Amino acid sequence: MNLFSFITRKSFARGVHPASNKSTAGTPLRRLPFAPRMILPLAQHIGKPAVPIVSVGQEVVRGQLIARADGFMSVPLHAPVDGVVEAIELMPSARGPWTESIVIHTYEASTQEQRWGEPRDMDALTPQEIIQAVQDSGMVGLGGAAFPSHVKLTVPKDRKIHTLVVNGCECEPYLTCDHRVMIERTDDLIQGIRYAMRAIGADKAVIGVEDNKPDAVAAIQAKLPSDGSITVVAVETKYPQGAEKMLIKSALGLDVPAGGLPSEVGVVVNNVGTLALLGRLLPSGQGLTERAVTVTGPGIKRPGDYWVPIGTPLRHILAWAGADDVSEREIILGGPMMGQAIASLDVPVTKGVSGILVFDRRRVEAESQRKIYPCIKCGECVNACPMGLNPSMLGLLAEHREYDHMGRDYHLGDCFECGCCTFVCPSNIPLVQQFKVAKGILRERAALAKAKAELHESGERFDFGHAEGEGRKGGGSRHPINKAPTP
Ligand code: SF4
Ligand code: SF4
Repeated sequence: MNLFSFITRKSFARGVHPASNKSTAGTPLRRLPFAPRMILPLAQHIGKPAVPIVSVGQEVVRGQLIARADGFMSVPLHAPVDGVVEAIELMPSARGPWTESIVIHTYEASTQEQRWGEPRDMDALTPQEIIQAVQDSGMVGLGGAAFPSHVKLTVPKDRKIHTLVVNGCECEPYLTCDHRVMIERTDDLIQGIRYAMRAIGADKAVIGVEDNKPDAVAAIQAKLPSDGSITVVAVETKYPQGAEKMLIKSALGLDVPAGGLPSEVGVVVNNVGTLALLGRLLPSGQGLTERAVTVTGPGIKRPGDYWVPIGTPLRHILAWAGADDVSEREIILGGPMMGQAIASLDVPVTKGVSGILVFDRRRVEAESQRKIYPCIKCGECVNACPMGLNPSMLGLLAEHREYDHMGRDYHLGDCFECGCCTFVCPSNIPLVQQFKVAKGILRERAALAKAKAELHESGERFDFGHAEGEGRKGGGSRHPINKAPTP
């Protein structure tokens, strides 16, 4: 990368510029003592839940396989600590409903070292064997999506991938764990990129990093191979630069078709945190037992980035990070733009959790209760939407519960819920919350239609009553997080 690439500021159209608040970027990653009890939901990735292969009372070792993948669209789970299986039962989860989980009582002498796993010669593996190794590691997209990584690296037979785009943007305010990983685990990152390139058959990789992280760019540049197969490009610091389609546009100038996948333009996208851990885990044959997490916000005395074992309850992390009076705090998992407010501190960190943000509850509530005014047709939301949608019109249709109209004629399916429209709306209209409700109702309707069709084919009769989603309101509750609370 040279000065010219900074000046040209590679970017995508529209988007927003929230305050970054990345005060933890300069502090090295740290570790915490293990929690006395770890909670591992079997469903913490997109796809089918893992299936337990341990029983209550069984001793386990850090890194040991404790639940196997249930088919291709699934990943296994590994013990994050030495300990004994205390229960396999329903436990609170960040997803909302209680979910079946393996609960491990941690041995006090449990070591941070991972002793389970058979080293393997990565150079001897075929692309298919690399993909199998990725699945065996239990890896999912650590950027927040928790999509199984081996599925993402499996290229459809009719497609050819020319470039692996590596996402080092970390465009959400507050979050800095990817930033630290790029600096502290650079060798692992380059190694993971090489494995992923071989798995997908790509000749080159481009690492996209927002231009507010020059130290990360410099650290990567110092480790790039001389053959030019892996390069780093600075992209404009702008939200949502880290969204797949936005980054592909910024880094390569390619447009992924509406409703399409990156592979349609010859690209696969992976997050830096995911690849850095794959670079470390795959040669040693180990499973995913921990991830980097940003713990910060005005309610935290010792903010920073931490290596957190998967399954650690939030209460334990917040106690060690110095959260004062958590009852007066609003806790958000992920970033403030797309993250999720959490009601219970007993939920554990799962594979997709990149941040734990702690805000002042009264301030957040005050923001969430701001008066909503009618749309003034200012067009700010249209100018902000990175997908080129018309959020104003979508909002009006949502108010009238015209969900089919939204999906059919106004491309609601292309909305990836980034929240830019809500962020800029001067009337405080909770647009993205309305769109989430609308998409949920359309999904329900599609599932219902499918079930009806299948029953019709089987010749059975069933009364579906009024379960058509009509009884739900389209407005949704106004959610505070898209206004990116500040200290
Ligand atoms: S939430 Fe959806 S409609 Fe709003 S800006 Fe993002 S992509 Fe566009
Ligand atoms: S930003 Fe808000 S007020 Fe302006 S056009 Fe969009 S919905 Fe209407």
